Amino acid sequence: MKENTTIQASLAGFADSVSADCTVGLIPAAKPFFTPNPQHPTAEKHHPTAGSPNPASDKPYRDFSDFLHEHFSTKVQKISINAGFTCPNRDGSKSHGGCTYCNNQTFNPEYCSRGESITGQLERGKRFFARKYPNMKYLAYFQAYTNTYAATERLKSMYEEAISVPDVFLIIFYSRTAFVPENLLNYLSELSRRVFVLIEYGAETANDRTLRLINRGHTWADTADAVARTHARGILCGLHLIMGLPGENTANFRATAAAVASLPIDTLKLHQLQLIRGTRLAMQVEAGEAVVAKWSAEEYADVCIDFLRRLPRRIALERFVSQSPAELLIAPRWGLKNYEFTHLLLRRLAALAATQGDLTKE
Ligand code: SF4
Repeated sequence: MKENTTIQASLAGFADSVSADCTVGLIPAAKPFFTPNPQHPTAEKHHPTAGSPNPASDKPYRDFSDFLHEHFSTKVQKISINAGFTCPNRDGSKSHGGCTYCNNQTFNPEYCSRGESITGQLERGKRFFARKYPNMKYLAYFQAYTNTYAATERLKSMYEEAISVPDVFLIIFYSRTAFVPENLLNYLSELSRRVFVLIEYGAETANDRTLRLINRGHTWADTADAVARTHARGILCGLHLIMGLPGENTANFRATAAAVASLPIDTLKLHQLQLIRGTRLAMQVEAGEAVVAKWSAEEYADVCIDFLRRLPRRIALERFVSQSPAELLIAPRWGLKNYEFTHLLLRRLAALAATQGDLTKE
């Protein structure tokens, strides 16, 4: 599944994926290429070298490249896969109409219509990156719609296909919290002994009232339950959150930060709410039925800083912004690329002498 604010990475757009957020620098091969999750129940027995921290990191927050560094001794790059799933929040199995901020057109139907195999998508992505980084390894990122919303056997065959592609060693996938069945988690726990597995859940906020307003079709308790079940099996786990959902304010963001900090997650993606043409939310805002934040980039950076100061350092921040296609985006239109926003955030963190977790006890 892909949230409305995330551009489905078509292979033509892979250049956007090459960022410090997704890669780690080449490190002499003093440790094995892949170091499985040190939290895995089998880690101590099978992987005694797991979990070396990145000694070079002096950043004010733990970022995704630090996180990857603890698992890989080489440069890695995500390749987005569209496995052609649908969404239970659209097809009636959970709800109709989808989340109020979500627009079908941001799901890259052109990409879906190609019907290209998982192997084909990965090989095409590898060809794109191999020109610049011949020794690159890859992670398959199943991100479109709800990637656990299919029979477990079908999912297994897709994940096995992905890791059978040479140089593809990782799987990250995105799911709604209510759609990860026990047998799938058991399989993924096994799989995570062989390859890197990270499940990302779309939580969006800890506020159940907001979740109802935006028609998410799940509660915060669903998220906490999914994370607990995932973590108990030693599978790495991340959350997605949206900042600036209708009616939310600083008190809500801080409550969400506290709720997130209490969960055993490994990674976190934040992004600003984007108002997209054709969505129910855009119509509600136009009709005066919903109010959304109208932050400048600087104001939003300060919201992110206040949030990450309340997060324990064990949680790696993967990103703070997302970019929908310009022709669909109503607001905000900051005109900043992800790395430019990160630089802005780092400048403001430095000015405040603030760091991740400096307002927490953990
Ligand atoms: S869960 Fe919501 S945001 Fe995700 S694909 Fe479905 S409708 Fe869109």
